Amino acid sequence: MKFIAIASFIILAGALLTGCHSHDIYTAGISKQPFGNADGKPVELYTLTNTKGTKISIATYGGTITSWTTADKNGKFSSIVLGFDSLGGYLAKPPYFGALIGRYGNRIANASFKLGDSVFHLAANNGKNHLHGGLKGFDKVVWTAGPVSDTTPSLMLTYFSKDGEEGYPGNLQVKVVYSLSNDNELSIDYSAETDKPTPVNLTNHSYFNLTGDHSNTILNHVLWIDADKFTPVDSSLIPTGVLQYIKGSPFDFNTPTRIGARIDSVKGGYDHNFVVNRIDDRLLYVASVYDSISGRRLDILTTEPGLQFYTGNFLDGSIRGSDGKPINQHTGFCLETQHFPNSPNQPNFPTTILQPGAKYHTVTKYKVSVN
Ligand code: BGC
Repeated sequence: MKFIAIASFIILAGALLTGCHSHDIYTAGISKQPFGNADGKPVELYTLTNTKGTKISIATYGGTITSWTTADKNGKFSSIVLGFDSLGGYLAKPPYFGALIGRYGNRIANASFKLGDSVFHLAANNGKNHLHGGLKGFDKVVWTAGPVSDTTPSLMLTYFSKDGEEGYPGNLQVKVVYSLSNDNELSIDYSAETDKPTPVNLTNHSYFNLTGDHSNTILNHVLWIDADKFTPVDSSLIPTGVLQYIKGSPFDFNTPTRIGARIDSVKGGYDHNFVVNRIDDRLLYVASVYDSISGRRLDILTTEPGLQFYTGNFLDGSIRGSDGKPINQHTGFCLETQHFPNSPNQPNFPTTILQPGAKYHTVTKYKVSVN
């Protein structure tokens, strides 16, 4: 009896101590290290750390989140995003792993759009369509970066996209701020200004695998999306223009459902824009993903009207992670907050045209918790 009492005291004290350890023993801050060279410019890797020990590394090449190391339910740390530990992995052009996407995230049909009386031609880098900003989008340029003096570790990245770059009109000054709070929330604040009307649609292309090990697929992750409609697509993944109700279909995630539960009835897997239920552009809680292996949960809040849910359908094992293991199909999912694909050619979609004198500003937050 006495032994049991002592043993339980030790376990309780241990649990309390472990509790303390997993809370406030880390010093929040931001550090920087060299990460190679691209376009003849030095590339830096910044790491944001919070008091929980979560670390998010961001390369100035593409403003790319290269790793996001956070504790699972047992206090074990591992990265919840697909990425590489050296610049070479990114220079080999993986499909946008962790990168900032622009000037226009997602597809523009036939790589062209009309604005006023002019037709603009962009690079056709996805069949006949334009994808994620073209041949050298914002994911493949070196951004200027530096810490922001703030109470939470924050990194500001800026990029000046010249008039005519990748075919887009107008000089565009872009600013993105990543901030990591002590309650494990990464906030991404995007802003931009232009001197000519131009389409702008910025996002981040992280592929998450909440198990922290990309040898697991994401098919057992449970997903909730607050959307009653999505934008169905044609065979080249361009929305038809219809906003279709999803109730009862494999696209209905209003009730939390395993990603893999109905994926076989979606040709090619999920790669669709969901129309978030909203009436204005306030920051809203729009999606959540839970993985029972790690106990990790990812909550997504955004000011954006759309969410591209992509299940890594085109990952085929030909790319290897830094651990040497192949990155196979469905081993990462993306929830890219955005305006709808092909908006510049779809007058019935919310506009993506930024006017001179106006300010583009959107916010997305990814919060990780364990239970
Ligand atoms: C698109 C996919 C594309 C992937 C990587 C996603 O945002 O929706 O169709 O294959 O990015 O390029």
